[in-house]
Formats: sequence, C-alpha cells, structure tokens
Amino acid sequence: MTGGNAIRGMRLGSGTISGDVERGESAPRQRVEYWCDNGHRVEPSFAADARVPEIWECTQCGLPAGRDRENPPSPKRNEPYKSHLAYVKERRSDADGMELLDEALSRLRDRRGRSER
Ligand SMILES: [Zn+2]
Repeated sequence: MTGGNAIRGMRLGSGTISGDVERGESAPRQRVEYWCDNGHRVEPSFAADARVPEIWECTQCGLPAGRDRENPPSPKRNEPYKSHLAYVKERRSDADGMELLDEALSRLRDRRGRSER
C-alpha cells in the first residue's frame, strides 16, 4: 500500500506550491497610479508586459480614475445615465411590478384553461 505515502507527498507538494505562488510576486510587475475625481488614489499592479488601461475604476467610490492626477476623468458624464436608470428602476418597482405579476398570472390561468380542455 502506497496510499499513505501519496497523501503525505501531496501535502508536501501543495505546501511547496502555495509558497511558490506567494513568492511569485517577484515576476516583473508594474504598479500604476490612478486618481479619481474624489481624490482617491488606486494603485493596481499589472504584469510588466500588459497594456496599462487609461481608465481604472476607483476601488473606494467606483468613479472612473485616470492616470493624470490633476485632471481626473469627469464623473459627470455618467451621472445623467445613472440617475435616469435609477429613475426608471424606481418607477418600475411598484406599478410595473404589479402589472408584470398580473400578466404572468393571467398567462398562467390561460395556460391552465387550455390544458383542461
Ligand atoms: Zn474614488
């Protein structure tokens, strides 16, 4: 029986692997700073050979963050769209929700009626 040895070997192996992953940060990486309109700084790191995006999402407030600290991307461009979406969602939540429910119920009744015939 070699089962015991195999398990011991796996444990040893997995320990070695996780250690290697942690040390894997020595692989060439670049850190890029981004600033959002609220003055937050995010500093994601990318593989050295990766193409660095112009815009990064701020991890603190979700606004787009740019690489130019003095001139962060304006969040205003997105505001009308967001508020419009929120408005639509609000309107839909009650009236349309009931309507959809009604529709679904009547469809269900319709289907039942047909199957009974
Ligand atoms: Zn931010």
